[in-house]
Amino acid sequence: MTAKSMEELTSLCKRRGFVFQSSEVYGGLQGVYDYGPLGVELKNNLKAAWWRSMVYERDDVEGLDAAILTHPKVLHYSGHEETFTDPLIDCRSCKKRSRADHVADGKCPHCGSVELTEPRPFNLMFKTGVGPVEDAENFAYLRPESAQHIFTNFKNVLDSTSRTVPFGIAQIGKAFRNEITPRNFIFRVREFEHMELEFFVEPGTDEEWHQKWIDMRLDWWERQGVNRNSIKLYHVPPDELAHYSKATCDLMYRFPHGSDELEGIANRTDFDLGSHTKQQDKLNLTATVKRNPDTTARLAMQNLSTNKWFVPFVIEPSAGVDRGVLAVLNESYEVEQLDNGSERTVLRLPPHLAPIKVAVMPLKRNHAEIVATAREIVSDLQGLGLGRMTLENTGNIGKSYRKHDEAGTPICATVDFQSLEDGTVTVRDRDSMDQVRIDRAELSSYILSAIRM
Ligand code: ATP
Repeated sequence: MTAKSMEELTSLCKRRGFVFQSSEVYGGLQGVYDYGPLGVELKNNLKAAWWRSMVYERDDVEGLDAAILTHPKVLHYSGHEETFTDPLIDCRSCKKRSRADHVADGKCPHCGSVELTEPRPFNLMFKTGVGPVEDAENFAYLRPESAQHIFTNFKNVLDSTSRTVPFGIAQIGKAFRNEITPRNFIFRVREFEHMELEFFVEPGTDEEWHQKWIDMRLDWWERQGVNRNSIKLYHVPPDELAHYSKATCDLMYRFPHGSDELEGIANRTDFDLGSHTKQQDKLNLTATVKRNPDTTARLAMQNLSTNKWFVPFVIEPSAGVDRGVLAVLNESYEVEQLDNGSERTVLRLPPHLAPIKVAVMPLKRNHAEIVATAREIVSDLQGLGLGRMTLENTGNIGKSYRKHDEAGTPICATVDFQSLEDGTVTVRDRDSMDQVRIDRAELSSYILSAIRM
């Protein structure tokens, strides 16, 4: 279904408490957003779904949660200091800056002037002072990707877990980029979150694993409600590849502002492990695994090294949490025409992503017994450990249904006078709007089967 415009989504996000402009009371900080009560749940649920599929549902991936502050040498030897730049063009007329790839026909995208400078490189990394003395020596970078700490911890993880390749290290966490033109709501921001897997493989098996990860990631997005037909694959041409990549496939999602990158899946070869190892021998980042004879033969056929000791290649599926939230919201958004001529806005989120799982509604907001029963039900459902269960005590059931349709709450349960007599409640399904009366004793198992993935 999807939203007709980004404005539709941003207004829903503000209205219902998914996403707010950061520092809004002081005019806002450009390219920085805060997640509100519903947004934090949706974001956490998306990250949990990623972690579940990467770490819990596999037996070849370990987790990591590394620091954001990063030693400059890490980003020097990774190549980021030198190459993590966007060429920029200044407009001599309006004095605004634009990314060179956003300047079409040699005209300033802001004022249309052709009085432009030549493109100049601009480093995207944020620096911050470390310790009491602020000078050029004492600084750290805020990491621009979570991946580098996976590489610098490679040996630690290997030694503490006795893994051999193929295996992966997964990490979710903040990344920072001083984007020149943050825009399109939470699509391009300066502070965002990455969900990154570095999957280490033997050279020679890398292309096969690259394709496997492309397929697995498409399946995963589909399970998050992002239709396969909404994603196109973009095989990045050689002259556009990042400095570390041998091949990259971008998953391009149809965002409200157009088709754009949701996730990049790169074959980073042995670039990162290799360059850290070369620069800092004592880190000894290389994996020491014995090759099996099949692999050795295959490597020989590809003219690759067949040494017993080797630096693994790495396949990296790297997704943005914020872009994921935007895609999931867009994909589940629908304005539905009802038979009575009215319309309702509904988020058809997969239940495991829904910020609130069940809203329990007393028919009368001041009726002590009805409200107490509803509270008891909320408390019972909270014990299921499925996520947020709330009491919606407005006394206006129709209005509450609309509110929870917009929040994506899959199930509403209403407690009324009959509930007090026969112990039943009315359960209403978000998508079909069908209502059934069920015994309160069966509510938990009903909810469990409806909500569990
Ligand atoms: P783009 O070309 O859009 O700037 P990128 O190719 O630089 O993105 P990667 O370095 O491959 O992005 O990062 C992996 C993922 O991180 C992207 O697919 C995207 O989902 C997310 N991401 C990157 N930059 C941003 C940003 N500024 N704001 C939000 N998410 C981002």
